[in-house]
Amino acid sequence: MAVAGSNPERSVFQDWMTAITRRRIRSIRLITQLIMFVLVNGVIIGLSRVPFPAPISFPAGSPFGTVWGGLDAIQFILTRGQFPFLVFGLFFLTGATVGKLFCGWACPVGLWQDLLAIFPLKKTKISKPDNKAFQDISGFILWFVVGWSAWIGFQRIDRGNLEENFFTSIPYGFIDPAGTLFITLWYAFTWKILPGENSFDAIDSMGTMFLWKMGALLVIMFISMKVPRAYCRWVCPTGALLGYMSKNSILTVKRDPLKCTDGCKACEDACPMGVPITDEDPDGIANSLCINCGNCIDACPEAMSFGFRL
Ligand code: SF4
Ligand code: SF4
Ligand code: SF4
Repeated sequence: MAVAGSNPERSVFQDWMTAITRRRIRSIRLITQLIMFVLVNGVIIGLSRVPFPAPISFPAGSPFGTVWGGLDAIQFILTRGQFPFLVFGLFFLTGATVGKLFCGWACPVGLWQDLLAIFPLKKTKISKPDNKAFQDISGFILWFVVGWSAWIGFQRIDRGNLEENFFTSIPYGFIDPAGTLFITLWYAFTWKILPGENSFDAIDSMGTMFLWKMGALLVIMFISMKVPRAYCRWVCPTGALLGYMSKNSILTVKRDPLKCTDGCKACEDACPMGVPITDEDPDGIANSLCINCGNCIDACPEAMSFGFRL
């Protein structure tokens, strides 16, 4: 199959190579995402666990995880009655320097959503004001989870040991798709190491919690097929926390107004996060949705580029 606008005398291979080089950043990013996926789940290939929080959505306690997702680390430390200075510092430092680069290039849940977006389901167009308004949901979830975790921490200090479950250790695990993908499903379907004789017994032992988590995962999957990266845009508290500093990050995306003359908005059409690129400051996108993915640069390399904001 030849790509649109191809010369009939060119080989299919040449056409595909042209298509790939036109999507240069997107291709490099996909390869990077796949490598990061393997590294983050690196216990499978014999890597050691590093007890370090990463600014990505990834569950603590994944059987094959090499790192902890930062939000899980925040929740766990708060529910022990301590304050996670190091993890908050890591998030603020990351957001202030490279913005949400980890969202675009490293987060396994981000990769999962990029793959879901390929699914041939008619996409729903979301207006700019709605996209901005729905974003507040992720901030609300973030501070609710932080507040709840801190309250559990006070209870633990006050009353001594509390029963260990989702709500007293990592409350967001209740709906977190990362936990469902990288712990629940892996345990239940693949490795069969939950209590019980087989995977179906393992699922049964989780009861309604399994059904709830699967229901939440399916809803998120469906919405992410209709709206690219819907979970990242509106729900993910990890992205919300990174977003507070990423608006003014040093690494940014710039638009040359002298070369952006026709207002075609091809850059906006290519943006998976619905950033209103042409309304942004040309000297650097100051929008907490931007994940520095570079899709807009692929769409318009003449006018768009990565750059630094000092
Ligand atoms: S917003 Fe959340 S799920 Fe999306 S890429 Fe960032 S950390 Fe991952
Ligand atoms: S695609 Fe390029 S020319 Fe078109 S609006 Fe975006 S920056 Fe301007
Ligand atoms: S503005 Fe550009 S770099 Fe930022 S998320 Fe959209 S396409 Fe990616």
